[in-house]
Amino acid sequence: MRDHSEWLALAKDLDLPTQHHIDGRAEGGGQGFPVVSPRDGQVITHVADAGAAEIDLAVAAARRAFDSGPWPRLSPADRGRILLRMAELLEQQREQLALTVTLEMGKPITDAHDIELRAAINTFRWYGQLADKLTDESPHTAPDALALVTREPAGVVGAVVPWNFPLTLASWKVAPALAAGCTVVLKPSESSPLSALLLGQLGTEAGLPPGVLNVVNGDGPTAGQALGLHPGVDVLAFTGSTAVGRHFLRYAADSNLKRVWLELGGKSPNIILPDAPDLERAAATAAWGIFFNQGEMCTAPSRLLVHADIAEQVTEAVVRRARELRVGDPLDPATEMGPLVSSAHLDRVLDHVTTGQAEGARLRVGGEHRENFLQPTVFDQVDPGMRLAREEIFGPVLSVLTFTELDDAVQLANNTEYGLAAGVWTSDLSTAHKVARALRAGTVWVNCYEEGDLTVPFGGMKQSGNGRDKSAHALAKYTELKTTWIQL
Ligand code: NAD
Repeated sequence: MRDHSEWLALAKDLDLPTQHHIDGRAEGGGQGFPVVSPRDGQVITHVADAGAAEIDLAVAAARRAFDSGPWPRLSPADRGRILLRMAELLEQQREQLALTVTLEMGKPITDAHDIELRAAINTFRWYGQLADKLTDESPHTAPDALALVTREPAGVVGAVVPWNFPLTLASWKVAPALAAGCTVVLKPSESSPLSALLLGQLGTEAGLPPGVLNVVNGDGPTAGQALGLHPGVDVLAFTGSTAVGRHFLRYAADSNLKRVWLELGGKSPNIILPDAPDLERAAATAAWGIFFNQGEMCTAPSRLLVHADIAEQVTEAVVRRARELRVGDPLDPATEMGPLVSSAHLDRVLDHVTTGQAEGARLRVGGEHRENFLQPTVFDQVDPGMRLAREEIFGPVLSVLTFTELDDAVQLANNTEYGLAAGVWTSDLSTAHKVARALRAGTVWVNCYEEGDLTVPFGGMKQSGNGRDKSAHALAKYTELKTTWIQL
């Protein structure tokens, strides 16, 4: 890993894209909108700003590439080779991409380089390798018939993603969609357009035919809405807030009933029982889970549910860890927490801190900020009815709640409109299984948090969304089942 001064020097010489990537080339100009780095409030560059006309252009390119271009007609092995080439190029451009992510949204460079880029590279590699290993079905049926159940590419995918993991989350949509034979229009968040544009360029460099992967910048209510309502889009794959997820269901209803897949918000519970195998590790993981990526994590274990007998011991250990965390310049490889993505987002998070105090929760540590840098924050004595316990904060703010009976812990854990993830810490195998079964969440971690790889699906229950990213299950989003019945 490079040192701080090397990253600072590299940041000065970064070559950043400023136009949309449509039909295999740079498109659009004009004044555009500024990309402001939360690191220092400076404008990094301006990027082209799409209205309905640019979305039309991108959808038309993706439509042509799907309806008459080579991509859906290539053999899966050939498609896989291009995805593998994309993984190689991501690896080659890893430093430039990590730096871009850090500058545009503020995550520490070590996390951008080691975690975000690793995830993006692995995703393209995994779907590249999977592309030619899929089979269709021929069910045993009537003796005078042959039935085929095949999966076909679903068409043009509109992918709209947030800023907290700009490349990972884009890859989780783009790689399986391309592997399935779809074409894509990707709209990144207005807070993180640059890394997505580089991904678009890199796809063309890897050999994607024109129009197969288009990247268009713009704000949600204009460009995002135009994509959501577009009659030329067959599938919408969205990651973002639950509030905006509702808009996408409306866009589909008000247009062509396109398929809508939603990966939305969370308020995930993390239950620590007195028989946890290692309470220090459980507390350290709870702290890491909520403060990693500045708490800007859909899966953040933001509700720590801890048994009353060990509550003080665990809370104290989390508070200690919060005090030790190195908050600072995200270009310093020793930094563990960078700035929040914007001053507007900081204000939203601070509002939760103020309300938490007003509602009577006890602030154990944190709550102060310098510019966009918020200190890791822990509240205890949180009641289930408080906003701190109910609403997604999307910042480094932990709420500690206590319980005495296991059933109450499960009930507390499920007492949320969300259902994205959950954790449970226990040494008892039966308790682990019983609690995991009882939790209404798309992922349950036992004696760990935020672990996993590409083999397992990821997504939410309840108002955390539908459908799954990652694993072979993600292909269900980007394919349609067809039955062919042949009378013999
Ligand atoms: P957001 O919902 O505000 O924005 C997400 C995307 O939607 C952006 O590209 C934005 O431009 C676009 N958008 C905004 N308003 C729109 C509109 N009216 N019409 C069309 N598009 C619109 O979310 P965010 O602030 O970028 O990200 C934070 C949210 O994302 C949190 O709620 C977090 O939990 C969620 N998230 C979920 C997952 C998951 O996998 N479940 C992963 C990461 C983040």
